[in-house]
Amino acid sequence: MRDDGTGTTAETGHAAQADSGRAARRDEAVRGAVAQGLVGAEAPLVGLLDITGIRDSAAELRAAFDAVVPAGTPVLHAFAVKASPLVPVLRLLSEAGLGAEVASPGELALARAAGVAPRRTVLDSPAKTAAELREALALGIAVNVDSPQELARLDALVSATRTDSPLGVRVNPQIGAGAIEALSTATATSKFGVALRDEGARAWVVRAFAERPWLTRLHAHSGSQGVPLTLMARGIAETYALAEEINRHVGRRQIDTIDIGGGLHVNFTSEATTPTYAQYARLLTETVPGLFDGRYGLVTEFGRSLLAKHGTLVARVEYAKSAGGRAVAVTHAGVQVATRTVYAPASWPLRIAAYDAQGRPKEGPEVVQDVAGPACFAGDLLAEGYRLPLLAQGDHVAALDTGAYYFAHHYAYNSLARPGVYGYARDASGEMRFALVREPQTVQEIVAESGGGHADALTAL
Ligand SMILES: *Cc1c(COP(=O)(O)O)cnc(C)c1O
Repeated sequence: MRDDGTGTTAETGHAAQADSGRAARRDEAVRGAVAQGLVGAEAPLVGLLDITGIRDSAAELRAAFDAVVPAGTPVLHAFAVKASPLVPVLRLLSEAGLGAEVASPGELALARAAGVAPRRTVLDSPAKTAAELREALALGIAVNVDSPQELARLDALVSATRTDSPLGVRVNPQIGAGAIEALSTATATSKFGVALRDEGARAWVVRAFAERPWLTRLHAHSGSQGVPLTLMARGIAETYALAEEINRHVGRRQIDTIDIGGGLHVNFTSEATTPTYAQYARLLTETVPGLFDGRYGLVTEFGRSLLAKHGTLVARVEYAKSAGGRAVAVTHAGVQVATRTVYAPASWPLRIAAYDAQGRPKEGPEVVQDVAGPACFAGDLLAEGYRLPLLAQGDHVAALDTGAYYFAHHYAYNSLARPGVYGYARDASGEMRFALVREPQTVQEIVAESGGGHADALTAL
């Protein structure tokens, strides 16, 4: 585990223990999934979720912020639904004390199906329709507006109806990009929020609040994979400074809550959970102490960091072959479930683990090989030139840390079926148990979703 000097030895020891516990549960789950036929000749690909690990991460998040705010400070941790849009996952997180951050009518429907209360839900999309805004205000869901035009829409709705929705404005502190441009939300030209450093923008925001006593929140989501903690903290410091300026300007505490977004980086290169929520919360208290003195309520919107390390894709090796002197394992996990990794392998490398036909960790000398997916294009590789014990037909490979933005985000290339998803946890007697989260998609469903009911549509016209 990397020691960056921000954690105590006891914390580091505890985190390392949690990481090795997770790895042990995962090995047991892969063995159990093979033994029970959740993955095998009939179902060559499956997604697995570690229920215990998800609960632990939710508890760590809550504890990290509870440790740095005065007792009684309102804090809502709204899970970013886009990271894992699965109803049972949202229910699990809700029972662990989290809310939901939604960005589309579909995500809002998922959160509601999971039973997440409207007062624990935040709507953040950059393209909300009038109908979406109306629904959110009717339900009392928090809304962060993204642009002056959207604020004008809200003006009309607020004057026409009464609402309990907390309303805020999303700003872009324009702190610069992280390592992955496509995921950096706080660049000068980002499409999100009101760009604070643009000519006249800051004065516009101050005036917008002064003219609307019902605007009570500021929102910034400036982190993401590849963005360092210090840069994220700087974005939040800028947002806090603006809240202070607005409250001074209006002469009262009009802004009572700051939504700091999500975006904590996930370590995809080893088992270690780093950075931790505790490290981030501590850095924030050092960078923006005024945000933690009890005058502001807090909302967070973490996604990837809550789920990534608790998901595993397990695929059967259908064939093992050799090409140009390179061993190639042809598996069932490719672009349909690891889209980012296949299309942008340099930004999104995944750890791959080898298991034998019975789902036991595969032993043997490591060999450089390619782990290929099933799709019909040459670049469909889960990993290229990867060192693993030589994979054979009937073995299994696992793509680790795939609990967020991977198998819950199916890409329908080659009409490959969405895999089943199962949660796992040990029962009271210590035995590994599985629960169905999402049914595997059938070929009949693929036909139906692909216009199967309208086969004559084009020839009949
Ligand atoms: C995507 C997103 C999040 C979650 O980001 P993660 O990197 O998954 O933590 C939070 N808030 C907003 C507005 C987002 O768009």
